[in-house]
Amino acid sequence: LGMPAVPARLAPRRASRQIRVGSVAVGGDAPVSVQSMTTTLTADVDATLQQIAQLTASGCQIVRVACPSQDDADALPQIARKSKIPVIADIHFQPKYVFAAIDAGCAAVRVNPGNIKRFDDKVKEIAKAAADAGIPIRIGVNAGSLDQRLLKKYGRATPEALVESALWECSLFEEHGFRDIKISVKHNDPVVMVDAYRQLAAQCDYPLHLGVTEAGPVFQGTIKSAVAFGALLADGIGDTIRVSLSAPPVEEVKVGIQILESLNLRQRRLEIVSCPSCGRAQVDVYKLADQVLAGLDGMEVPLRVAVMGCVVNGPGEAREADLGVASGNGKGQIFVKGEVIKTVPESKIVETLIEEAMKIAEQMQADGTPS
Ligand code: SF4
Repeated sequence: LGMPAVPARLAPRRASRQIRVGSVAVGGDAPVSVQSMTTTLTADVDATLQQIAQLTASGCQIVRVACPSQDDADALPQIARKSKIPVIADIHFQPKYVFAAIDAGCAAVRVNPGNIKRFDDKVKEIAKAAADAGIPIRIGVNAGSLDQRLLKKYGRATPEALVESALWECSLFEEHGFRDIKISVKHNDPVVMVDAYRQLAAQCDYPLHLGVTEAGPVFQGTIKSAVAFGALLADGIGDTIRVSLSAPPVEEVKVGIQILESLNLRQRRLEIVSCPSCGRAQVDVYKLADQVLAGLDGMEVPLRVAVMGCVVNGPGEAREADLGVASGNGKGQIFVKGEVIKTVPESKIVETLIEEAMKIAEQMQADGTPS
């Protein structure tokens, strides 16, 4: 009962080459990783490291920092050394910062094709420096900064334009024998973005970094990212993800992790299966679900807790979960692994569920259930 032993499967992962971003493998059979980007001034080392620590604690696996000035470049060695997760330097115009980032010990560098063209003659040197240091480069195409030549050719940032831009940029590095690359082709429209990644996936074997750029505030950005990543990941496309939100970056990580858990690409942790409530409900389901979630938040074991508003569908659903309640007549029937273990008054439902959840969690940990 609870989560099936063999989770339902998505399409097989696309066979991509594997690269290493510091300690994190990306592509091939490596699990899809979650990344984010700091919002602090990179030159402010303390603030940046503090934000990286928060991101790390929330489950972020790779962090990117912007590097638009010399002060930022100067901060990179300390940030790269003290961060517990690999740091990628994000560089748009200045090749000298690419070299600085490589020297600083960054785990990778992200460059933008629309802008890198300006340092055409530097590609060879960048490829050599990155190869010598053994670090990969992300070719990060963005609809907003597409190469002028392609904008003219396609009229706007179409999926084809994004893909052509990315592959052209890769070819500049490939000419120098450099293939330690991952690619992103971001657009703010999930439909364009999904199309672009599908085309790109069919045309190369580089690992892909998924992102809907400028996705918006939390609600809209979460939906856009979940829909786009879901479509691609369900088809096996995507090796690392970054959710972009106009919100603190920790929120991006939470959303990213939840997307992977929803797709069974990661072991699910706490999952509240609560009904939407309806005219049959005999209890305030929203409040009950919120209270149970608040009481169990942060649990690392894969626990499925059903919170059902009535005894019509309630018992059936509650039985499917590790633990559940079906409410009715001012009481709650508490189920554990499909068996009614007790019936408690409504006022005791939350505490009983939390108590039983703790017992199950302890048992799971003792049994070595992966968390
Ligand atoms: Fe309605 Fe009961 Fe179903 Fe909840 S479990 S939606 S209250 S029928």
